Amino acid sequence: MILALPVSAGWVKDTQPIMGTSVHVEVWDANDRKAREGAADVMTEMRRIEALMSPYIEETALARLNASAHLAPQAVPAELFDLIRAATDISAASGGAFDITFAAIGHLYDYRDHVRPDPAVIAAKLPLVDYKHLHLNRTAHSVHYARAGVRIDLGGIAKGYAVDRAIELLRAKGITSALVTAGGDSGVLGQKDGRPWMIGIKHPRSPDEMIAVMPLVDSAISTSGDYERFFLENGQRYHHILDPKTGHPADACQSVTIIGPRGQLTDALSTTIFVLGPLDGLRLLQQYPEVDAVIIDHLGKLHLTPGLEQLQRNDQP
Ligand code: ADP
Ligand code: MG
Repeated sequence: MILALPVSAGWVKDTQPIMGTSVHVEVWDANDRKAREGAADVMTEMRRIEALMSPYIEETALARLNASAHLAPQAVPAELFDLIRAATDISAASGGAFDITFAAIGHLYDYRDHVRPDPAVIAAKLPLVDYKHLHLNRTAHSVHYARAGVRIDLGGIAKGYAVDRAIELLRAKGITSALVTAGGDSGVLGQKDGRPWMIGIKHPRSPDEMIAVMPLVDSAISTSGDYERFFLENGQRYHHILDPKTGHPADACQSVTIIGPRGQLTDALSTTIFVLGPLDGLRLLQQYPEVDAVIIDHLGKLHLTPGLEQLQRNDQP
């Protein structure tokens, strides 16, 4: 038998390193060219956002803020301003568990080279970690840092935002089926071959295994784990999610997955709940009825939001 078309007709897939992570896109359209253009547009959009918000590339608007926003209020593009404001809203809602000023300490870590700041340095820098040091002027779109030494890093929210932008761009093109993933943050558009997209949640202590697979349609899913960026030293795990109260890696969870309508929120909340832990985390989530959570605490115990708990009960034989 000779098939007239390859089985994968209409599907275009691509993976590229952007924003310090791996960006993966899958787009379907009956028109191959439209699918290819869609996938390419997603990568272009991801690079555009990286060029605006990376703290590591010297010329980005965000790097300029970190260099001089303590001297005088500095205007930034509306898009960056809005994301900073959204981040501070989540800080306020979470009692500071989510805080983009964690970077005053965060930038002293290098997880690849096993570099961590001395506890005395962490203690000395801790007063710089406070979103209230960020003075935002909504009319001027300006940001002023209350002190020298304050720094911000949008690593806990920007990838989710970028995924939202990518999905919107595909939707605007008329694409009806797509997946966009940036590290731990994914968004899905429509269904895949007439069924929900199936997105797996990794086992935090055995990341080749899945602890669950979530069926998703038109939604976003973000996972924050202590196994993505970390190193071990004397049995101690040093990872990339810091508790702004202590300046040290948060130790209440191994992994937190948030499912909701928008990646910007699921991304920020996965980091937030990771810091808060299951008890305070589930309490905070009562304010966000549109999201669900799969929390694995520091002992490996599973905690679910009521909606998922109900589903799981129904699934049981
Ligand atoms: P990933 O970057 O692997 O998708 P997360 O969404 O959990 O994972 O984001 C972790 C990133 O968030 C860290 O690499 C850092 O840039 C940033 N971050 C760490 N701690 C905090 C915090 N307490 N509040 C806000 N952002 C944080
Ligand atoms: Mg996150």
